Amino acid sequence: MLDTLTISIQPTTASRLGELDPANIEFGKIFADHMFAVDYADGEWQAAQIVPYGDMAVSPANSALHYGQAIFEGMKAYKAPNGEIALFRPLDNWRRLNESAARMCMPEIPEELFMQGLSQLIRLDAGWVPSTAGSSLYIRPFMFATDGFIGVRPSDAYRFMIFTCPVGKYYNKPLRVRFENKYVRSAEGGAGYAKNAGNYGAAMYPTKLAQQQGYNQLIWTDASEHRYVEESGTMNAIFVIDGRVVTPALSSSILDGITRRSVLQLARDWGLTVEERKVSVLEIIEALKQGKLNEAFGVGTAATIAPIATIGYEGTDYELPQTTANAFSLRVGEALDAIRSGEAPDPHGWMVRV
Ligand code: PMP
Repeated sequence: MLDTLTISIQPTTASRLGELDPANIEFGKIFADHMFAVDYADGEWQAAQIVPYGDMAVSPANSALHYGQAIFEGMKAYKAPNGEIALFRPLDNWRRLNESAARMCMPEIPEELFMQGLSQLIRLDAGWVPSTAGSSLYIRPFMFATDGFIGVRPSDAYRFMIFTCPVGKYYNKPLRVRFENKYVRSAEGGAGYAKNAGNYGAAMYPTKLAQQQGYNQLIWTDASEHRYVEESGTMNAIFVIDGRVVTPALSSSILDGITRRSVLQLARDWGLTVEERKVSVLEIIEALKQGKLNEAFGVGTAATIAPIATIGYEGTDYELPQTTANAFSLRVGEALDAIRSGEAPDPHGWMVRV
């Protein structure tokens, strides 16, 4: 990639890399040495820089803090056995970030700024990309309002930033989930398809209630009738019903997950029947009762695949069959891992070297 964009780089004089124990990485608490930051003012992005990771000063009146003008992405970089570092479908994250930005009246981020910021940051912190099997560098691009103005209107100034954290292997402990029939994550016409901060803050309370009842997370249902499946926690939901791969069709209330897209692509490559449509709660319960629900799992960047073992509905817990070695969720998770780690060919050109 050409370095046509000028990014000023202030390298750290006190790297913390030596403190990292690759065998014991606690998710989300350890940050790589540097972060990328660029400010938007007077209608343009200016003065892109990479600086040591650390706290920063912001106006206490900014509209991210008060009205939620804040959006983010989640993505990963992987180290191949030959040491090369590659990103998984980064342009998909870039496009989605700009869709979120448009929904929240925030400025668009040019492709070059996003990709250069990412690749220069990751090249500088290459030592932070773990190389043990199943590990990766989690990347958090985000944008927030910076105006010092308390009125309710879109801010004029913004900051776009990227920081990263090394993540270890994710242990796919099968989940206990239940259908939510009171609270909603998002509604048609709302902002559920965007990754704006408020969607996540508002989901915490219903999730906490479910956790107090012994579930790991919720399966969200539609806002008007609680009849149709939406998503599973902060993952898209996929079911295997009678050998068919079934998932809720995208809508304005569902996040267009990049893992979902990739899993469905591999399923189609393998000749499986894929159905993207409305999936009713009753269809899932009926399939469970008749032994036709072969698999249920969440898909997302953090876990890739999170198998579901138990689904609660109206006070009853239904158990899914144990995942077999031949299960689609297992095979597709392994196939994605192999593409990402550079161990398998990448027929769709998903990996982008930094
Ligand atoms: N749904 C929601 C609400 C999410 O926050 C995420 C995580 N970004 C996903 C689904 C999965 O998306 P992806 O596969 O792009 O990580």
